[in-house]
Amino acid sequence: TEQTAAVKAVVRAIAERLEAEREHLTDLDSAIGDADHGGNMARGWAEAATAVEDLDDTDVATVVKTAGRTLMSEVGGASGPLYGGSLVFASAELDDGLTDETLVAFAETYLEKVTDRGDAAVGDQTMVDALVPAVHTFKKSIEVDDLPAIEALAKAVDAAERGVAFTVPIRASKGRASYLGWRSVGHQDPGATSTLFILETLLATTR
Ligand code: ADP
Ligand code: MG
Ligand code: MG
Repeated sequence: TEQTAAVKAVVRAIAERLEAEREHLTDLDSAIGDADHGGNMARGWAEAATAVEDLDDTDVATVVKTAGRTLMSEVGGASGPLYGGSLVFASAELDDGLTDETLVAFAETYLEKVTDRGDAAVGDQTMVDALVPAVHTFKKSIEVDDLPAIEALAKAVDAAERGVAFTVPIRASKGRASYLGWRSVGHQDPGATSTLFILETLLATTR
């Protein structure tokens, strides 16, 4: 279907963006981690794009599930299971295709799974700092403000951007960066940053 093709194109576009940001993400991770986040994301999403292209005659949920499975198997460390496992789990919300309702459910379930698995809250200097404001803003923009999904997504991107900026002055309490204690203060979180890049790409591709 048209939606399936669109979602495959989104996965491809995310892979391209994260390849372009490989060094940027690696630099961020080298400051407070082990310098592999750029490679993890670029490699994992490239593999995911290949895997979904190979799917014939499929639906949106299967495309997302396949991308998630690929990330889980290709990317080790913290980000592989967090991104991949959460995509796999949340993909079930897209069984009926893409509508305002299924997109909100997908976003909420994805966030829920990330926080279940990683046990991080806002303020721990992780991807959750970008994700929570993005998902809450998306949901509110659709359900309360009655905006079309594309405008809700634009607002979610703005919220994620502020979330990424918020990771800089705070101290890491989860993941590798937490080993640094107070020395993590003053650094932008790599996973929050890749989350923002993915949301920006989603917006750019669907606009
Ligand atoms: P690793 O830290 O294992 O090398 P990556 O470098 O690929 O994995 O990913 C690091 C990112 O993962 C961090 O910047 C952070 O955003 C995210 N992260 C790490 N631990 C958690 C957690 N417990 N909950 C949510 N996100 C986390
Ligand atoms: Mg790392
Ligand atoms: Mg690592």
